[in-house]
Amino acid sequence: MSSMTRPSHYTTSAYPPYGGSSSSTSYGGGSVAGGSAASLKPQSTHAKGATSPVQEEEVDALTNLLVQSMDNAADPEFFGMCADCGLKVVGEGSGCTAMDRVFHIACFTCRVCSCRLQGKPFYAVDGEPHCQECYMNSLEKCCVCSEPILDRILRATGKPYHPQCFTCIVCLLCLDGIPFTVDAANRIHCIDDFHKKFAPRCSVCHDPIMPEPGQEETVRVVALDRSFHVQCYKCEDCDLVLSSEAEGRGCYPLDGRVLCKSCNALRVNALTSTTSTEL
Ligand SMILES: [Zn+2]
Ligand SMILES: [Zn+2]
Ligand SMILES: [Zn+2]
Ligand SMILES: [Zn+2]
Ligand SMILES: [Zn+2]
Ligand SMILES: [Zn+2]
Repeated sequence: MSSMTRPSHYTTSAYPPYGGSSSSTSYGGGSVAGGSAASLKPQSTHAKGATSPVQEEEVDALTNLLVQSMDNAADPEFFGMCADCGLKVVGEGSGCTAMDRVFHIACFTCRVCSCRLQGKPFYAVDGEPHCQECYMNSLEKCCVCSEPILDRILRATGKPYHPQCFTCIVCLLCLDGIPFTVDAANRIHCIDDFHKKFAPRCSVCHDPIMPEPGQEETVRVVALDRSFHVQCYKCEDCDLVLSSEAEGRGCYPLDGRVLCKSCNALRVNALTSTTSTEL
């Protein structure tokens, strides 16, 4: 079994309209709902030297962008370099931020189908944006219900399952975290149903021979090419429970009958006397 964590789910937002040149203007920030995308402000905030401590901190977080863009710092319309095409992002409404990077709106696209993602939910897979549809298509599908697996993948016999789809085919009990076994066709069974279905049958009572509660191994007696519950392996004449390991309780079969030593002797004697009488 293995598990996978889902990539974070982000949304983007375009830059809000730039507020003009007055030093008292609040820019509002280009905040992004959810995820870890940065809240960017036009670089001129720093150039004007009118930043509050909070603004200073946010600007400090953008050191790399600032270094790259010092030449452009005087241009209030400059937002940064596009992480996709490498060209300047200039002018309100032309850029967006996602995954702590700046993109042209036209450059922020799904890496699989190239659809534009600005303003839409997207998924960052190894730092690459994917639209919802492509992301879903890239996920492993549950081998039972064929739906994509968004959260934990339960892997058994090499196949992926939703944990809730991993159930015994007989009793439908969910076997996530519970011991299970498979038949020859790799179908999932709880231990109980597996034994009920496949355990050898006792030749005396015809019930399946299952492990004792709490035990993993089945104990059975095999004699005369037949299987027996330990307690069903008895002399057919006197019901003495037989065992090859107990002194004096060995099996002395006669004509396919399970017999104790003394019942075997009685039958042999009876046969012998009948034979002699007939002679
Ligand atoms: Zn671009
Ligand atoms: Zn796509
Ligand atoms: Zn499923
Ligand atoms: Zn079951
Ligand atoms: Zn039995
Ligand atoms: Zn007996």
